[in-house]
Amino acid sequence: MKTVKPDTPKVGILGGGLSGISYAFFSSRMGYDVTVLEKEKAIGGLMRSINEDGFVFDIGGSHVIFSKDKEILDLMLRLLGENKVRNRRNTAILYKGRLVKYPFENGLSNLPLTENISCLIHFLLARIKRRKDHRNLKEFFYNSFGRAISEKYLIPYNEKIWKMRVEDISLDFIGRLPNPKVLDVIKASLGVGSEGYVHQLYFYYPRKGGIQYLVESLRKKVDGEIITGFEVKNVKKESDKWVVSNGYEENVFDNIVSTVPLQEAVKIFNASKEVSNDVSHLKYNSLLTVAIGLKELNIKNLSWLYIPDRDIHSHRISFPSNFSPENAPEGKASILAEITVKPDDPLFKKNSEEIADMVVEELDRLKIFSKDDVIFSRAFKIKYAYPLLDSYYREKIEKIKAFFKEIGVKLVGRFAEFKYINMDDAIRNVLTHLKISNLQELDFLY
Ligand SMILES: Cc1cc2nc3c(=O)[nH]c(=O)nc-3n(C[C@H](O)[C@H](O)[C@H](O)COP(=O)(O)OP(=O)(O)OC[C@H]3O[C@@H](n4cnc5c(N)ncnc54)[C@H](O)[C@@H]3O)c2cc1C
Repeated sequence: MKTVKPDTPKVGILGGGLSGISYAFFSSRMGYDVTVLEKEKAIGGLMRSINEDGFVFDIGGSHVIFSKDKEILDLMLRLLGENKVRNRRNTAILYKGRLVKYPFENGLSNLPLTENISCLIHFLLARIKRRKDHRNLKEFFYNSFGRAISEKYLIPYNEKIWKMRVEDISLDFIGRLPNPKVLDVIKASLGVGSEGYVHQLYFYYPRKGGIQYLVESLRKKVDGEIITGFEVKNVKKESDKWVVSNGYEENVFDNIVSTVPLQEAVKIFNASKEVSNDVSHLKYNSLLTVAIGLKELNIKNLSWLYIPDRDIHSHRISFPSNFSPENAPEGKASILAEITVKPDDPLFKKNSEEIADMVVEELDRLKIFSKDDVIFSRAFKIKYAYPLLDSYYREKIEKIKAFFKEIGVKLVGRFAEFKYINMDDAIRNVLTHLKISNLQELDFLY
């Protein structure tokens, strides 16, 4: 039991995903008296994992550990300790029934010869023209990759995942834009091996427990209370205290940190009509994931398979049994299919069984496995998966944040701040909020 000095402010952290648990870890070790309130029975948020008859699935979509931020990568690996595996990415794109190496421009020799040549010529023409006047993602693709690669893969895949026309996607929406080397693409066309996106070429993953293990290992180090199954419904200020209620019980705090999605926060904090209206127009995509346990797979050793084909619902499938041998019973295999949808898409409202059956049928049709080999399948619905950072967002977000700042609530996390952040960014973001610039200074870490 932690002994807290009587005058230490009590901090209530709403949401027990990676941001909430990281915030609890660092701030509790800095001496704050923290309590996390999480609505689900388990912590983890987007990083939740389940174990179904020995099959482990990351139900918030396929998650792996990689980062350019060495300090945070090192922290994540330390958290995993011995419980980790390191894998080399083996990713392909399913194009007209063929497996094309990922990224597409590094797999040109896997295409039929005429298509390979057409992709290379258009790519070289685009590079000779050196046009840099792109105003949106479509123009960027044409200027940087040429017409053939854009139309065969980049446009259909990106429209499938973002559920938007590429001409409507602004460039800062995407963040880091790929810029393949000319020589690498020529080599790829000739069938000489080259790699793209090298910062993700090797990745780490927990040997046991799925990606949730990372959050669980942080949780063990939190010097405070973590309450699960507590869905925050209402927060109000009484005198100088925050009273947080789930409709039955109340918890009282001096300070509040909210990691829950803004769309929920405006209801919880009873925001003004104007702010609620601004938040209601922020665009985001939801996600359906379908976990499939199998006797065997027709495709061996892949990490991910990208599916640009518009007639198939899944845009990406991952192979958890290839991430870690502990992710499936011995000799068995597994798949996690992902489908992004707009939150109001009727598909999102269908029952889980119907969605799972549809995906199994489609993947059987693609000959990825035979449906006779399916041991079980189950679909999961993730309402808040991808924030879409369009021009409306840019116009409104500062005003929305100003409201929460004014009432004294700190917003931290992917959907709480409406930021497109990965796990490494989420941890770094927490450190920034806590004004920690150098992890080496934290004697409790090492
Ligand atoms: C499909 C997909 C794949 C990804 N893959 C990777 C990857 O490979 N590598 C990587 O680094 N990152 C990846 N990410 C990003 C990563 O998932 C996020 O950066 C990280 O999980 C964000 O954590 P968070 O705590 O900010 O948000 P969340 O995980 O969304 O946490 C919010 C928490 O708030 C809780 N909550 C909501 N409402 C309430 C309420 N009313 N009361 C109490 N609690 C509430 C939720 O249950 C949840 O636990 C991926 C994300 C997605 C969607």
